[in-house]
Amino acid sequence: MSKLYVIPTPIGNLDDITLRAIKVLATCDLILAEDTRTTAFLLKHLQIQKPIKSYHQHNEHKVLEEVIHALQSGQTIGLVSDAGTPAISDPGFLLVREAIKNNIETICLPGPTAFVPALVNTGFPCNEFSFYGFLPQKKGRQTKLKELAAEQKTFILYESPFRLVKLLEELRVVFGESRRVAVCRELSKLFEETRIGNFNELITHYKSKPAKGEIVVVVEALKANSKTDLIEN
Ligand code: SAM
Repeated sequence: MSKLYVIPTPIGNLDDITLRAIKVLATCDLILAEDTRTTAFLLKHLQIQKPIKSYHQHNEHKVLEEVIHALQSGQTIGLVSDAGTPAISDPGFLLVREAIKNNIETICLPGPTAFVPALVNTGFPCNEFSFYGFLPQKKGRQTKLKELAAEQKTFILYESPFRLVKLLEELRVVFGESRRVAVCRELSKLFEETRIGNFNELITHYKSKPAKGEIVVVVEALKANSKTDLIEN
């Protein structure tokens, strides 16, 4: 029977591929890849040879029907993105939704994603949390920031290093200077770093030493701050 597998791939360290991901990649008839070159490199590293077809945010609507037909005809298809779990700030949601609508068995393998290690590395409360991915860059950004003002849980954002200081400054306006925040860089890579402080401290730091690499921003839950205040008082 045909299946759609959503297959997480490493976010930096190639050793983070799971044994199951390797097995499933080796059994797929076709791999859908966000960037065929990146996936070809990974498959070569794993010594797996499979047909790879491009599936990214600019063609996902166009190829959707064709992929569903291939699944209906009995093919097992694996979906990968450049890094981490497809559909998490990456293409994938549309295909999974359509596959489910068409009664195609869909299985997302557990595996690498940036926001989980980032969240856990901070030591911020993580029994409940929110994930927002990238904020809109222009249209809708201010609305989203206003929406975030009501957020009481620890929350997670993805951001490019070039826009990090701007984002921290915008969040400082919403949450105040003393709210704690973490910048998690280069997870699973050689220069992995988690820097925790209040908005003022991190803005000063990254203004003098611009951030490089891939970044997750985690803002501490409101309740955690008030608990700390109680202890300190
Ligand atoms: N699908 C991916 C996942 O499961 O996390 C996310 C893909 S999204 C296009 C890329 C963003 O994820 C980066 O801009 C960064 O915010 C975050 N990211 C990916 N790899 C990372 C890493 N090694 N360290 C820190 N952040 C990372």
